[in-house]
Amino acid sequence: MDREARIAIVGAGLGGLCLAGLLQRQGYRVTVFEQASQFHRIGAGIVLGASIARVMRRIGIEAPYVASGIKPDAFVSRKWDTGEVLNELRFDAETEAEFGGPFVNIHRADLHDVLRSALPDGTIRFEHALTGVEPAGTAVRLVFANGHTEEADIVVGADGIRSSLRDAVFGRRELRYTGRIAQRAVFPASRANGMFMRDCTKWWGPDRHALAYYMTSRRDEIYVMGATPDPNWTADSEPSLWTHDQFLDAFASFHPDLTGLIEAAEEVQILPICDIARNDTWSQDAVVLLGDACHAVRPFMAAGGSMAIEDAAILSLALAAYDTPQRAFAAYERIRIPRVGEIQRISEENSWLKHPTDTGWFFGYDPFAEDLKRAA
Ligand SMILES: Cc1cc2nc3c(=O)[nH]c(=O)nc-3n(C[C@H](O)[C@H](O)[C@H](O)COP(=O)(O)OP(=O)(O)OC[C@H]3O[C@@H](n4cnc5c(N)ncnc54)[C@H](O)[C@@H]3O)c2cc1C
Repeated sequence: MDREARIAIVGAGLGGLCLAGLLQRQGYRVTVFEQASQFHRIGAGIVLGASIARVMRRIGIEAPYVASGIKPDAFVSRKWDTGEVLNELRFDAETEAEFGGPFVNIHRADLHDVLRSALPDGTIRFEHALTGVEPAGTAVRLVFANGHTEEADIVVGADGIRSSLRDAVFGRRELRYTGRIAQRAVFPASRANGMFMRDCTKWWGPDRHALAYYMTSRRDEIYVMGATPDPNWTADSEPSLWTHDQFLDAFASFHPDLTGLIEAAEEVQILPICDIARNDTWSQDAVVLLGDACHAVRPFMAAGGSMAIEDAAILSLALAAYDTPQRAFAAYERIRIPRVGEIQRISEENSWLKHPTDTGWFFGYDPFAEDLKRAA
């Protein structure tokens, strides 16, 4: 695509910020429109594999990215009651070389800060909540809640699971409540009173699970995320708070290595876990979707954010490789849809890494090795 094309990205989440960084490095004019007035420090972590380190490297921020998080020494799966180790995937210099980068666990706010540091001031326009789109010749006019309008030659919907751009252009897609709620707690490791903890452990119960990990290399901040069944919620239920006792009750029958950590939790956020049925229509004319806007998965493989970031990598390559948006979007979809479809399937199954698993295809994936011309 012509470097003069005006590219508008709606949503300054993980996918939108990565795409902006990648495109700017290729000389494109990019503006990101974000509904929030500023970034808030949401209490949550994120687990990201080696394919994401490759994207950070390409943007030029791999060093601060790794320094802001932790390279865990392993991902461990344990049985909920006995604590038996069901699987242990070690991460060391050898796996880093094999996968092409490190596995990183990081606080979401720290990841946002690093992504934002790669963008020149003025790239992100806060307080721009998209409300609609209109045709404007071959371009698209974006309409925002604050009364502003903006024309762009290419519009990327990176506005998450409740994407307004998607619903406006492709028709409403229903969110599915999965019947489970998530609990999220972040707290200083000093509150855990020396509890035994590996760098990253998933606890597998009969109808619920929990994931606990450090988010810094100093091992001074812990994140515990739980997922439990709850028939009383819907996709539209508002996130809320639990007390520490409610969190503890939900996992009372689990091993003391987990309940001891939950004892240390202070504020516990709860939210409904939702996804969207697979739909392979990701683009139309000059509009294309990425990340949760087109393929929100349930977080049981910890892969939704990785998929948004990999989408950004492939879309940036496709836009550089083709002279029309339609040809670029076709190549992007042909590369991304099969991989994302497999991630959706495994995420629904909730089986990833429970037992020894072939992980190379996921963690070792190199988006920049894709042959864009062949994909078309
Ligand atoms: C409990 C839980 C745990 C998870 N753990 C992991 C994990 O460990 N690893 C992993 O890879 N993934 C994980 N995920 C999934 C991951 O969080 C998402 O897949 C990822 O954030 C999607 O990125 P995105 O860029 O598509 O959208 P988002 O990160 O949701 O960003 C969307 C952005 O668009 C903005 N926006 C929305 N509407 C508008 C509008 N109308 N106008 C302008 N801006 C708008 C929003 O404010 C937001 O900034 C988890 C999800 C959950 C719920």
